[in-house]
Order: sequence, then structure tokens, then C-alpha cells
Amino acid sequence: MTIMSATMPFVSVEGYLSYPELRMLIGGEWVKGVNPDAQPVYNPADQSVLGWLPHADHKLLGSAVDAAAKGFEHWRFTSANTKAELLLRCADLLTQRQSDYALLTTLEQGKPLTESVGEWDRVIETFRWHAQAVEQLEDISYQQNGQQHRTYSRLEPVGICAGFTAWNFPALLPARKIAPAIAAGCSMVIKASEETPASAIALLSAMVDAGLPDGVVNLVFGQPEIVSEFLLTHPQVRKCTFTGSVPVGKKLARLCADGLKRCTFELGGHAPVVVFEDADVEQAVAQLASFKYRNAGQACIAPSRFYIQRSIHSQFADAFTEYSNSIIVGNGCDPATVMGPMANSRRIIAMQELCNDAQSQGARCLTGNGLDVNDLIEENGHYWQPTIFADVPAHAAMMQLEPFGPISALNAFDDIDTLLQQVNELAYGLASYVFTQSRATADTMVRHVEAGGIVINSVAVMEADTPFGGVKESGYGYEGGMEGIDGFLHKKLVRDYLQ
Ligand code: NAD
Repeated sequence: MTIMSATMPFVSVEGYLSYPELRMLIGGEWVKGVNPDAQPVYNPADQSVLGWLPHADHKLLGSAVDAAAKGFEHWRFTSANTKAELLLRCADLLTQRQSDYALLTTLEQGKPLTESVGEWDRVIETFRWHAQAVEQLEDISYQQNGQQHRTYSRLEPVGICAGFTAWNFPALLPARKIAPAIAAGCSMVIKASEETPASAIALLSAMVDAGLPDGVVNLVFGQPEIVSEFLLTHPQVRKCTFTGSVPVGKKLARLCADGLKRCTFELGGHAPVVVFEDADVEQAVAQLASFKYRNAGQACIAPSRFYIQRSIHSQFADAFTEYSNSIIVGNGCDPATVMGPMANSRRIIAMQELCNDAQSQGARCLTGNGLDVNDLIEENGHYWQPTIFADVPAHAAMMQLEPFGPISALNAFDDIDTLLQQVNELAYGLASYVFTQSRATADTMVRHVEAGGIVINSVAVMEADTPFGGVKESGYGYEGGMEGIDGFLHKKLVRDYLQ
């Protein structure tokens, strides 16, 4: 095994920091294992190879679980104060390194640099928030009048956790699992996305430099199905936390079933947006369009099914189209870029299929639907224009499947009963958005929309301090807030009769 210094070796090339050598972190050591060049990592802006990723075999995965077991024995009894100090030191280091790390995120994921900086802002906020939250974790006492004994719930970490994260927010998704896990006193083996590994390596590198004890968090890469099967059937692993697609979430839930492991699943969504005729259309368009194209639409909470009251449908569609046409698409490293490439070629194929299907079913294309943005087609990257369709039949794939890209379907609605039936008919239930000036209408929507969260007259739904999670097939459990930490804790009931 090769050992790398805790800080990743960055080299400046033509003003840019180069992509680091890729390693896994096991028991405090940066290792390549026996399969060091298993997979190329591509820059989605031009398909150049950024680096080569090692894969873990069964032996290395076993070492990662052994390391996590050692880490857990130490960390579970570590004081709240020590945990908080580690989280704060880590937040401070991340702040110092933010611009370097943001560049890595853009290089491997494609999003514009300003968005990568914003993602790392949220990572830092997540660590800071958990640093103060860990000091609030206390045993829960129960008052039982007339009883001599003491009854309380002792908060105990559930044990070794297996984390799996996707490529769309390569720094934030691992942070939203690691911070609550270590606040709770758990240890973790995390398999971050193989397509965007340097962001996770950067995060772990800062944690190691901040004093993370060996084995408390271990980072592996590999064939996803081999890694998840090994970890989730391992008797010492007690919890699975996954962010990704619904089909993969179901696979992992099945793997967890035999060992009755706890699960938190943050899965996909197809977020409905409802704009009523009394809404401030200009404000709604400005907020929704800029949010829609963030990360090229590759977010589980991205607005994607738009239901616009008929009297304002064409006004909304014209303004949304105008905004979309003004989006500058390009390489995320170019400061002029507003929307970067899609993260991988699978998304381009998915966009083509959704658009072809919608067109064949009679939907009207208002803008986009292709690659011919400026000269980008010659850039060899995974680019797709902001694309809008109107009058999309309810059974079209675009209305049924999470688009996960810069595609919006704008349909008109007439009455609230039909609207609610359409909004609620899918198996997804994650984010939802409503724009209206009426308190009564807003309250009706809050009561009747089947979603993990609903936002009225805005778009921000996920924060570090508030719990967020899906309903129906969008998953279960929460990330964020004290409930996010709760998912890593067991409440051991103690009835103590000792006088
Ligand atoms: P995918 O389902 O194959 O992969 C999603 C992520 O899960 C990837 O990072 C992958 O490495 C991981 N993964 C895949 N199989 C796994 C397994 N057996 N065990 C553990 N991890 C596994 O899909 P994709 O093509 O990468 O992404 C497309 C779809 O994924 C989108 O349509 C969207 O629904 C969903 N997605 C959702 C989120 C989210 O934030 N909820 C994030 C990324 C992708």
C-alpha cells in the first residue's frame, strides 16, 4: 500500500491547479490497492481524461470495515466537545482551501465555478452547523411521578455506517452523510461516486488534516454493485445511507433487508411547480429559471413539471423561454458560463430520449432540444441546451420520469382538483413549489401536495439546520437538522432502580 501525505499534492498548470492523484482512505492511510488504474475519470466539458481511479477489491473492503470497527470503538466514547472541535477545524480548513477544491469539483463534474464555490459553502455550513448541534445531544429523561427509579433514553451511535453518494453534488452529498454520522459517534465507510472522486478525496483530506482519528471515516471506490453488496451484507455494518436514483435505492434496500440494517434513502424526484394566476409571474420566472439551470438541472429537487394556470400560461412560457435563451452554456471554468455540460454521456442519451418521445406525442418545443449551442458541438463535451416543451401529454416519458437535466415541461391547468390529481399521480414525492399571493391557496397546497417538502413563493428547500426527506418512492429518513443526526442514533432505554 502506498501512503500519501494527508494534504493532496496539487500542482499549478497554466494558472489552474491540476487534478490530484486519486487514492482511497483506509484506516488513516491513502492507498491505491492492487487495482490502481481501474477507471478513467473524465472532464465532462471536453471528455479529456483527468486521472485514473483505484478500485477496492474484497480484501481492501474488508480492511475498510476493520478500520471502521477500530475507529468506532474509539469515536463512540469521544466527548461532544472533541467532536465539535474536529468539525470546526475541518470547516476552517475547508474555508482556506475552498477555491482549490471548487476547481476540482468543476473539472470533474462540469458545473460553473461559482456553483462549485457555492457547493463548498454549503459543505462548510454543514460542518459548522453539526459542530454546534453535537453539543445539544443529550440523554432524554422521563418524569414518572411517584416512582423511585430513574428512566431515560441514552443516545447511542448505531455503529459502522455504509454511505453511497452520487455525482451531482460530489462534495455536499458526502458532507451531508459524514457530518451527522460523526456527530452521532458513528464511523463510516463511504463509497463516493467513481465519476467525481476528487471532491470526496478533497473533503476527506481536509478532515484528516483537521485531526480525524484513523478509521472513523474511510473512503473507497470500486464497482458500485460489488462494493454495496459487500458492505451491506457485512454483519458489522449497521446502517446504509444512500443518495441516488430510485432503482438503485430499491436494490440497496433489498440488500439491507436480510440484516435488518437501518436505512436512509434520499432518492430521485420530479418536482412539480404550480403557478397560480395571482402570482407575481416575473418574480416566479426569475427564481424558477435560475434554479432550474443550476447544475444543468441535475438535482433531485430541480423544478421539472410546471403546471401554470391557463390565463397566465403564455405570459409565463414567453418569459421562461426568454430567460432560458439568455443562459450562456459552456465550460464551467469559463467565468462567462452560466450552465455547464451535463455530467456524463448517459444524461445526453436520456435528454434525447425524453425530447424525442415528447415530440412524437405532440408536445410543442418552445426552445432548445439539441446540442447546437454556439460552437459547443465542436468542444466534444456533454452539452445540452436549456429546453422547454409545452402541452406535454401526461403519459409522455418527460412527465413520468425524472428528467435530471435542463428540460422543463410547461403545461396549463384549469381547476384545482385535476391539478392535484396530476401533481400527486407519480410515485415520486420529493420537492414541490407553489407560487401564489393567496394564503388560502397556499394552505390548500401545503395540505394536499404529496411531497417531502413544499416551498411557497421561493425555491430554497434544503438547508443544514432543517430536516428534509422524501415520501413515496423518493425515499425515507431525513438529512439535515437534528433529525438527520437522529438517523445515526439509537435511543437505549434505561430504567435504573439502583438507590
Ligand atoms: P445510477 O442510478 O446508475 O447511479 C446513481 C449513483 O448511484 C451513482 O453515483 C452510482 O455510482 C451509484 N450506484 C449505482 N449503482 C449502485 C449500486 N449498486 N450500489 C451503490 N451505488 C450505486 O444513475 P446515473 O445514470 O448515475 O444517474 C441517473 C439517475 O440517477 C437520474 O435519473 C436520477 O434519478 C438519479 N440521481 C439522483 C440523485 C439524487 O440526488 N437523488 C443523484 C444522482 C442521480
